[in-house]
Amino acid sequence: MVTAAFHRATPTEPAKCVRILIVGGGYVGLYTALRLQRKLKAELAGGAAEIVVVSPDPYMTYQPFLPEAAAGAISPRHVVVPLRRVLDGCRVVVGEVTAIDHAKRTATLGTLATEESGRTEQIPYDELVLAPGSVSRTLPIPGLADHGIGFKTLEEAIGLRNHVIEQMDIASSTRDPAIRDAALTFVFVGGGFAGVEALGELEDMARYATRYYHNVVPEDMKWILVEASDRILPEVGAEMGRYTVTELRRRNIDVRLETRLESCVDRVAVLSDGARFPTRTVVWTAGVKPHPVLAATDLPLNGRGRLKCTPELSVDGVTHAWAAGDAAAVPDVTAEEPGKETAPNAQHAVRQARVLGDNIVRSLRDQPLETYAHKYVGSVASLGLHKGVAHVYGRKLKGYPAWFMHRTYHLSRVPTFNRKARVLAEWTLAGLFKREIVSLGSLEHPRAEFELAAGGKPSRDPKGSS
Ligand SMILES: Cc1cc2nc3c(=O)[nH]c(=O)nc-3n(C[C@H](O)[C@H](O)[C@H](O)COP(=O)(O)OP(=O)(O)OC[C@H]3O[C@@H](n4cnc5c(N)ncnc54)[C@H](O)[C@@H]3O)c2cc1C
Repeated sequence: MVTAAFHRATPTEPAKCVRILIVGGGYVGLYTALRLQRKLKAELAGGAAEIVVVSPDPYMTYQPFLPEAAAGAISPRHVVVPLRRVLDGCRVVVGEVTAIDHAKRTATLGTLATEESGRTEQIPYDELVLAPGSVSRTLPIPGLADHGIGFKTLEEAIGLRNHVIEQMDIASSTRDPAIRDAALTFVFVGGGFAGVEALGELEDMARYATRYYHNVVPEDMKWILVEASDRILPEVGAEMGRYTVTELRRRNIDVRLETRLESCVDRVAVLSDGARFPTRTVVWTAGVKPHPVLAATDLPLNGRGRLKCTPELSVDGVTHAWAAGDAAAVPDVTAEEPGKETAPNAQHAVRQARVLGDNIVRSLRDQPLETYAHKYVGSVASLGLHKGVAHVYGRKLKGYPAWFMHRTYHLSRVPTFNRKARVLAEWTLAGLFKREIVSLGSLEHPRAEFELAAGGKPSRDPKGSS
């Protein structure tokens, strides 16, 4: 049980400022900070509380929009929420927490400045919210670390868009059939949300783009989805998952169930069913694992590396530490079978953040804590422009209605009115004009042109150092 921590000034003791440290500026970090900012308005103004948010990026990424950003339907800037703008009552620190000594209530922090000085910083805190989310779950597959592309960040989504268009440019400019085939073969590994939506959106975009190429037609491209289990999109249920397989196959996408990627050495994807595909594109979306920073703490983890939590979202067995989202193993109190945990998705992350924020305030005011209880209501997924699949509150939708529901749902969910208006404006304009099909991959190497002009060897490193 946590004890009340707000102390008013007394004649003998000055008032104490409670520092709440939030590690991570994603779904949980942002929504918890927003909640605390609202509920602790008076304390923040009076200096009795301080909220510090540490995040490697100065923005929160609305991940469900990444597939549409990759397809060019939403600009990169509108997929993210600037933390400093929305968290004006908090201190935002751009950096990474590298270790936590909760017994001493201290976090070790690395920033760009500490990187230059070669030193790290220590931040003391009173209450800790640990929400670093998850990272791609990779396997020791030969060649994967060298050639695989992830799909969890904005950089990866935009990089993949540029890469796909670049492959079409390569195919269009060669007569070598081997180079052409490898450029036009796209392998996606993992049939969850991220893989299916990314593949659906990018295939749709590339199919559209072929109209601008004199020598590339949709039939020249091979799009392959590799999934180890016997189904895809478990989030929308078995029936809608089967529909998605049929729909993708109808679009000539090669969906291979009960199949694994075994190697991608030398840019050849070798599958467990014996198929071999020379390819320059292997997108790895085969699940997530908790962020590795959790292992650098003295907090309890479960067998899968998630933080052991109580249904009240405090870290099990310790005081003044809280967690939620992908990094936290939160008991699902609505599940019929005991021992189940809430799934790592945005639906839980957002709702948990609200309860978490409230519970911190309650604990500081010595009030009873609330239990987190939310029954998963199903999901919506986009499979490209005007194509989708949904299973929400028991209702199953396919095609255009599901796609429309996907858009309206996410428009209602993306944080801030400002972002909603910008995304809606972009969708409206996209309905009036043709799609923008251009690769801006050279943006990743801004110094290359100048280095060439200055007589040096152009480097592919964004900072210019080779
Ligand atoms: C492509 C894609 C599509 C998705 N679509 C859906 C969907 O349609 N519906 C749905 O419910 N879910 C969806 N999800 C899942 C959903 O986005 C996640 O479950 C959700 O983001 C989890 O929230 P979180 O706060 O735990 O983690 P995140 O939102 O990932 O936030 C973690 C934050 O912590 C930061 N961080 C990491 N390490 C440190 C450190 N050491 N110090 C400080 N900060 C750190 C990260 O940079 C990040 O900002 C999708 C995910 C992806 C990748």
